[in-house]
Amino acid sequence: MKVAQKEESKISNNIWEVALEQLSLVAKKMNLDKNIHEILKSPKRILEVSFPVKMDNGTIKVFTGYRVQHNTARGPAKGGIRYHPDVTLDEVKALAMWMTWKCAVVAIPYGGAKGGVICNPKEMSLGELERLTRRYASEISIIIGPERDIPAPDVYTNPQVMAWIMDTYSMNKGYSVPGVVTGKPISIGGSEGRNEATARGCVYIIEEAVKNLKISLKGVKAVVQGFGNAGSIAADLLEKEGCRVIAVSDSKGGIYDENGLDISKLLNYKKETGTVAGYNQSKKITNEELLELPCDILVPAALENVITKKNANHIKAKIIAEAANGPTTPEADEMLFKNKVMILPDILANAGGVTVSYFEWIQDLQANFWNEEQVNNKLKEIMTKAFRSVLEISQKYKCDMRTAAYILAVGRVAEAINLRGIFP
Ligand code: GLU
Repeated sequence: MKVAQKEESKISNNIWEVALEQLSLVAKKMNLDKNIHEILKSPKRILEVSFPVKMDNGTIKVFTGYRVQHNTARGPAKGGIRYHPDVTLDEVKALAMWMTWKCAVVAIPYGGAKGGVICNPKEMSLGELERLTRRYASEISIIIGPERDIPAPDVYTNPQVMAWIMDTYSMNKGYSVPGVVTGKPISIGGSEGRNEATARGCVYIIEEAVKNLKISLKGVKAVVQGFGNAGSIAADLLEKEGCRVIAVSDSKGGIYDENGLDISKLLNYKKETGTVAGYNQSKKITNEELLELPCDILVPAALENVITKKNANHIKAKIIAEAANGPTTPEADEMLFKNKVMILPDILANAGGVTVSYFEWIQDLQANFWNEEQVNNKLKEIMTKAFRSVLEISQKYKCDMRTAAYILAVGRVAEAINLRGIFP
């Protein structure tokens, strides 16, 4: 994306400002109607909740959480819930806006939303997490529902947390409502393939990108930052496609082996120790060093703002596939585009998760379930189609893939707003 020099100083590390900046840049590029731009700048609805939770030691702790619905012109709001000590309202607003674009890029009939609770789940017992989740679910139940806003997992939340949300919502209704959340365990209405979907979708996009560059995945060097749901499964799938995964990391640090890591052994190691750090025979590296390693494909799969103007010129990867949301700042985008690095933007590269969430929701509403092959085939079809549409726009406008994905997404949302008109 092109960042005007004089505007550069205005851009900070606040990701809500980053999100607004990305929208402004694209609005200019595509000549977006000023009124539509004005509408899209503000989230439709913000709910902030503070609620008490009984802790195991007998004390009561008050937690703060959010649910933000950015836009619902194309359908019910959709997006994950994040549990993290650094959650802020601005972050949740940005993530909600990105969900609006993501759902539009893959053309699934949803708007965008996101939730977050300021907490450190790594320091909480299972009982505390359950009580926090149930109370938060209760607090936000006034705005969620299968026709209104459908949460899902995000950073440090998982199928168990979704099961508690589904149960809490259902208890209040008096009957089971599986369609209120996605990313549930399969036995209570979850979908086959949902757990792997973000990573699988990302690998489908990488495959399309390398096909376009006329190279093969066999033997190419990949580096993955973040070893959670998206990163660990992406590393595994890339290895299965023949890539050499030379480095991975998590919040405790990174490991590096030029000959390629054995990802299935590493998955077991992480299960046992809770981290990849210290894995035998590999070299220790920091998260920062990992991003600058010589490699072909870099997959940021952790948090926002990790590729910035500080390190963009040191990045040696040819392709960056954003499994995380918001890993690259607009200034870094511009530098990488100049350096001919192809960025597969988050709203395209990690849209596999919400796409299979959509399949899960359809299956729940119909009480009719698909097998994994059906899920993966449909996912591939949607991801491939989205990639081709974005690539076509990037060729037409001679722009990077993020700008192209935004032009596609914002155009689709603008069309929906125009068709619906302004109430009253
Ligand atoms: N949290 C995921 C994302 O950022 C999934 C959202 C969903 O499935 O609704 O895309």
